[in-house]
Amino acid sequence: MRTVDTVALARRVRGPVLQPGDDGFTTEIAGFNAAIVHRPDVVVGATDAGDVAAAVGWAAEQGLAVAVQSTGHGQLAATDGGILITTRRLDEVRVDPVARRARVGAGVRWRSVIETAAKHGLAPLNGSSSGVGVVGYTLGGGVPVMARTFGFAADHVRAVELVTADGMLRRADAESEPDLFWALRGAGRIGFGVVTAIEFDLVPVRSLYGGGIFYPASATADVLHAFRTWAPTLSEQTTTSIALLRLPDLPQLPEPLRGQFVVHLRIAHLGGVEEGERMLAPMRAAAPVLIDSVAEMPYVGVDAIHSEPTDPMPEHHAGVVLRHLPAEAVDALIAAAGPHVEVPLAMVELRLLGGALARQAAVPNAVSGRGGAFSLLGLGPLLPGLEQVVPAVVGSVLDALEPFAAPGLALANFRGSLEATDGPYGAWPSADAGRLSEIKNFYDPAGVFGSGKRSLVG
Ligand SMILES: Cc1cc2nc3c(=O)[nH]c(=O)nc-3n(C[C@H](O)[C@H](O)[C@H](O)COP(=O)(O)OP(=O)(O)OC[C@H]3O[C@@H](n4cnc5c(N)ncnc54)[C@H](O)[C@@H]3O)c2cc1C
Repeated sequence: MRTVDTVALARRVRGPVLQPGDDGFTTEIAGFNAAIVHRPDVVVGATDAGDVAAAVGWAAEQGLAVAVQSTGHGQLAATDGGILITTRRLDEVRVDPVARRARVGAGVRWRSVIETAAKHGLAPLNGSSSGVGVVGYTLGGGVPVMARTFGFAADHVRAVELVTADGMLRRADAESEPDLFWALRGAGRIGFGVVTAIEFDLVPVRSLYGGGIFYPASATADVLHAFRTWAPTLSEQTTTSIALLRLPDLPQLPEPLRGQFVVHLRIAHLGGVEEGERMLAPMRAAAPVLIDSVAEMPYVGVDAIHSEPTDPMPEHHAGVVLRHLPAEAVDALIAAAGPHVEVPLAMVELRLLGGALARQAAVPNAVSGRGGAFSLLGLGPLLPGLEQVVPAVVGSVLDALEPFAAPGLALANFRGSLEATDGPYGAWPSADAGRLSEIKNFYDPAGVFGSGKRSLVG
């Protein structure tokens, strides 16, 4: 860390400009993953695009790297030096019900968009937790709750506004800055600038047949084997995933789940209740059930499908894409992470891919991982004493499934720590990686963005 003179910066921006030790600094840099504690030289709480442009311009003058944080759900490494721009005050949410389009500021979480869109019978393509930020999620592709019906969230983006390294506010869409528009939609986390707002299409969904089924630990093998034969038979109207959960003993959890190892099946079906009941019957019959909440539900209740944690937690995760899920893969998963092994994992999740996820967007984009059969994610709590153990265990689960992995396919939002080891272009096949690197060099020749782990000088 070095001492920087922020007087000129504070004059140029309206939002807070804070340095380590200042009141409010710790709150300003905090995010969802409590294991990531940023150490920037200075943090700027941007209030509008002008603040972002001023902060980026000042950072260029000072030779400082620029990192950006919205909610902190997707931070993979702590910023060490440089400037951190926080976007949570960029909270514009506008919905045009006729065009079925939303425009949102870079600090908006999915919850606000879901509620605003629902007033018009519309829904966004959010993921499993509405506390996640719209921009970070979408820049990484965005695998929605309704993924197999509508594809990646990035496939529905119409325009992205961002401040590039030269301090210019640009608008990238199908007509203007087309290469940048291609890259931002799926590979935006590589760092092409600081996004200030994003526009995307909404879908006409008011309700769905959805929810979760929890099974006891004793049913793990029966349920996972039933899932591997059942899931590939589903139509594009159904999106599903299954998770092995080691749940904490907390009073806010329903009694049969507290402190238990459970198997959690998640369902989002858009073909109506009757068809949904028929579709789900084989899984309801696969084993005794602890809780079954699958029913017709309004889209605003979508968080109940995955029931993700909402409070900040220290965590480590990594994920790979599988090309298929044969019986041996399920056996390997149970051997590595099933109820009979003592491992400090909170979740091991398999999401069914395919359907609309496999098709390129109408305006092609840089989303990675199209064409995979399943996504596999391992996640563990980085509690004191587990800092070394959890990454090793997550790695061993992924290694156990390695023979079934899809070579060359990776989902940017779920790779987690693998991004750190493979480098920023590791999620893309070589042709796309080459094009991304050219676009990066054009818009950010000095490597100011996506490199928040260092100061450029000093
Ligand atoms: C509980 C939970 C559930 C999730 N569910 C899903 C899911 O269902 N589907 C899915 O696809 N992903 C999911 N994710 C992953 C999530 O999409 C990524 O972690 C995403 O990066 C979070 O974005 P954020 O803006 O909230 O996080 P942040 O940590 O604030 O940002 C993450 C990264 O996004 C980039 N970024 C953010 N804002 C900007 C900006 N304004 N300009 C430029 N770059 C920016 C930066 O690289 C930043 O480091 C989930 C994550 C969690 C923790």
